[in-house]
Order: sequence, then structure tokens, then C-alpha cells
Amino acid sequence: MSELLDKLCQYRRLEREEWQILLASPRDLDQKALFDRAAQERRTWFGDEIYVRGLIECSNICKNNCLYCGIRRDNRQVSRYRLDRDTILACCEKGYAGGVRTFVLQGGEDPGMTPDWVAETVAAIKRRWPDCAVTLSLGEFDRAIYQLWFDAGADRYLLRHETADAAHYGKLHPPELTLAHRLDCLHTLKDIGYQVGAGFMVGSPGQTADTLAEDFCFLQTFQPHMVGLGPFIPQKDTPFAQEPAGTLEDTLILLALVRLTLPKVLLPATTALGTIHPKGRELGILAGANVVMPNLSPPSTRDKYTLYDNKLSTGAEAAEHLAGLRKRLATIGCTVAVHRGDAPNDHT
Ligand code: SAH
Repeated sequence: MSELLDKLCQYRRLEREEWQILLASPRDLDQKALFDRAAQERRTWFGDEIYVRGLIECSNICKNNCLYCGIRRDNRQVSRYRLDRDTILACCEKGYAGGVRTFVLQGGEDPGMTPDWVAETVAAIKRRWPDCAVTLSLGEFDRAIYQLWFDAGADRYLLRHETADAAHYGKLHPPELTLAHRLDCLHTLKDIGYQVGAGFMVGSPGQTADTLAEDFCFLQTFQPHMVGLGPFIPQKDTPFAQEPAGTLEDTLILLALVRLTLPKVLLPATTALGTIHPKGRELGILAGANVVMPNLSPPSTRDKYTLYDNKLSTGAEAAEHLAGLRKRLATIGCTVAVHRGDAPNDHT
């Protein structure tokens, strides 16, 4: 195992069979050594700085029916909302005052949120805060729409690939959603010039060492600028209500392995990680993560963006508590960056 890890650190890639061996019993790895190496790698590229992204959950209306997701179309228990532009700008204003310089607009695939409306919203944010980056995380669209948003000023796009194994993808999604199309979108986004984020849930139903090996093969080939990786957490009104959640331990190990595969990657310690353990985000950073995503959504809609059960919404992840976040990160020797926090790939 330790030879495979040495090899990964030297070449930043492994063969599929090697990933399969490593990921078949990841708990056999010396975790302290793994996390220390990953945290050291983070410090090499980012020093003690942690990057902040303010998350604005702009709509929980979704035309898709992903089996894991609490805001899936068939969930009648969700009270649906869409933020208007002034509300979104007010969220940005609040975040900016707290030091946030990247705004992430995330939502379901809401047909009522038209491409032109999104473009105008991006342009309005960039006009008012030209020193800020805008990240979109709105799902799958045609090239022309991604281009429209890029031309309006969007800098980054998060579109987790969810799993790089087509059969596994088919277990997590209805038939009309395919891995091939998801990957097409990721390639298009990169081609247009976005900083692109891929990623997957840890412990999603049907995930195995082999599907994880596919994920790592995909990541080392695609070379995304960002990787979103957090535990799967069941939501009670979805078909996966009874499935077990992904674990803290597995998530930390996989975060560290992502950091060692893609040394300069932007890697959030996610809200989902903070949800399964009170110190989840700090532990994520100590395992190599370098980004946190406090929630800037209006408090009145936060409990409606229920991707999974017990989602944190009022603690350190909430933007009202940025000072608290600063303190928590100081306890692990980190500072909060007050700048856009672009991927170093663009500058080196
Ligand atoms: N509609 C957008 C945003 C989806 S929500 C898109 O298609 O990309 C953002 C991410 O939340 C998803 O990509 C998924 O990986 C994660 N997510 C959804 N349901 C989840 C659950 N039950 N547990 C943990 N993460 C979940």
C-alpha cells in the first residue's frame, strides 16, 4: 500500500488496477501519514490560506429526478422556491461585507430560470463587484447556453460527474440522464474556458472499489480545476431513504487521495462533511481540502434546499458566522483568504 502511495506522489497517477487495489481497502493506509502528506501538499500551493465561496441556492425547482437528491422532481414534500435577482444581489452584498469574493449560484435544473435571466444576473453581479468571481452550478445545458453565461462573465462551473462508471451512473439516475452527456458537458465547459469542477459523493449506493477506481482514472485524465467530494447522506423522501450515509473516514481518505493526485486542485471541505461530523470541515482541511463554502442563501429559504437530511444551515457554514469560521480555521493554523481564489493552474 505504501509503495502505491509513493508512486502516486511521484507520478500523480496510477494505473486502473493499482487504483482498484488501493481503493479496495483504503482503511489499510496509514491515515496519519496520508493526511499529513496531503496537508503538506495543500500548504505547498496555498500556504495557510483557505479559500471561501459563498453559496447562493437560487432555486430548488428541478426537472430532474436523480434518485439520491432531496429536491428531485417527484418529491412532493418540498416547498419550492426561486430567488429573484434583487434577493441574490442582497446575498452577494452580505457576503462581500464578510470578505467573500466568489459567489456560487447553485440550483436545480429549473426551466423557469431562463438562460437569459441567468446571464443578466451574472452580468449584474460582475458589474457591481468586478473583483469577484462567479461560479455557476446549475446542471446540464447546451454549449450555446454555457457560452452565453461565460460571455456574461461567469468564471467557473461546478458539475460533479457523480460517478465515472456508466452502470453505477445508471443506478443513481433515471434513464434519460447519462454519464456520456454529463462528461460531454464537462468537456464543453473546459473547452469554453471555465475553471471546471467535477466530483462525486462518497458512499453513494452501489459505489465499489471499482467504481471509485474509475473516478480516479477520470480525475487524473480530465484534470479538473476543482473537485467537489462529500459523503452521500440519505434524504427521507427519496428512493434512497434507507441507504446508509457515506462515512467521515472514507471521505477524509478520498479527499487526501484527490489532493495527492491533483496537487493544485481547489478542494472544498463540504457542508455534507460538516453535517456528518461536528468537526468534519476542519478534519477535511487537515486531510488536504482548501476551500469552504459558507451559505449565503436567505435564512428563510435555507431549510427548503434539502438535498439531504439534517443539512447544516445555521452554524459556521452560514455566512452570518464568517467571524466564527475564521476562528475555527485559526485553531488549525489556517487563515481565510479575501480574494477570488482562482485555481493556481491558471498562473503557473
Ligand atoms: N443541479 C445541479 C446541482 C446539484 S446539487 C447539478 O446537476 O449539478 C449539488 C450536488 O449535491 C450534486 O452534484 C450531488 O453530488 C450533491 N448531492 C445531491 N444529493 C445529495 C445527497 N443526498 N447527499 C449528498 N450529496 C448530495
